[in-house]
Amino acid sequence: MSRYIPGLVVREAGGPATVEELRLPEIGPGQVRVRVRAAGVCHSDLSMINGTLRPPHPLVLGHEAAGEVVEVGEHVTRAAVGDHVVLNWQPPCRRCWFCDHGQPWLCSTSSGVAALENGITLDDAPVHVTLGLGAFAEQVVAPENAVIAVPRELDFEIAALLGCSVLTGSGAVQNTANVQPGESVLVIGLGGVGLSVVAAARAAGAGQVIAVDVSEAKKGLAEAAGATDFVVSSDTLSKDIRVRTEGRGADHAIECVGRASTIRAAWRATRRGGQVTVVGMGAADDMVQIAALDIFSSARTLRASVYGQADPDVAVPALARDVLDGRLSLDHLITDRIELAAVPAAFERMARGEGARSVVRL
Ligand SMILES: [Zn+2]
Ligand SMILES: [Zn+2]
Repeated sequence: MSRYIPGLVVREAGGPATVEELRLPEIGPGQVRVRVRAAGVCHSDLSMINGTLRPPHPLVLGHEAAGEVVEVGEHVTRAAVGDHVVLNWQPPCRRCWFCDHGQPWLCSTSSGVAALENGITLDDAPVHVTLGLGAFAEQVVAPENAVIAVPRELDFEIAALLGCSVLTGSGAVQNTANVQPGESVLVIGLGGVGLSVVAAARAAGAGQVIAVDVSEAKKGLAEAAGATDFVVSSDTLSKDIRVRTEGRGADHAIECVGRASTIRAAWRATRRGGQVTVVGMGAADDMVQIAALDIFSSARTLRASVYGQADPDVAVPALARDVLDGRLSLDHLITDRIELAAVPAAFERMARGEGARSVVRL
């Protein structure tokens, strides 16, 4: 029995994203079918269409989502029909060297796959789905390890954010940077991830959380998330940060943009011996230049945080509990609730630096 569902598709590189009718395959062993209820518009989706990444086409966009399991294939053990689930765009295999060594976020079977085919078709031809999901669609077909059950009382819109921006942002603070009480944290780029970083840094007890964005309009959102300082990015950023950190620079800089220029700015605004954590996903040809002498004499650490350096099967349910118990407030992250056809307009808002998360309600 064929099922047709609406989904947001880009037919060719540089082409528009439009709502198309997709045909779902029969699900196979180990697969689940999820009725998507909410999907966040993430910067990585924009990267799929603005030339930063070069995914194959046609492409169903979307990967930050939550929904309800409506069908399970043979041998599925970790999901049942009716479960409310968060989708995981990088499900660990639990068998490779990285999974075996406690680094499931680097799982060798799922890392670096921008889009793949999973049996869904458009006009009887295979389409690719973003990060193995293609969640800007009424339903997705996914392997069972790509769904994480969460309590039914958790709002779908909040649950969706746990699957990408919140897991990424809170994990960068807790797991990668390991921010300690009293430390100063500079956060560059205040999209969904950056604002999650701000909230997590504050929750970790950071003494100063300095939020930076190119847009002055982000000030209110930054303060609502818990920033102690807000600075509009400029050529004098490192000087501005030093002025606010007793001349030293911040203990931590967390870069949530993914550009050489902002990684450089994060580096220069961090104190001697400080830590720079890159969360933003940048382009393959955008080179970061740091002098060899600077690397030695600054004694800074530069590292990346992939998917919050977390085990999503552990971290997502923990985040869900934090939300339900009132320890973590994410309501300020959602600034726009939209329909599928309005995602391109949400990309434009994102590119202009307006708002925080737009969430598609399906
Ligand atoms: Zn994302
Ligand atoms: Zn693995």
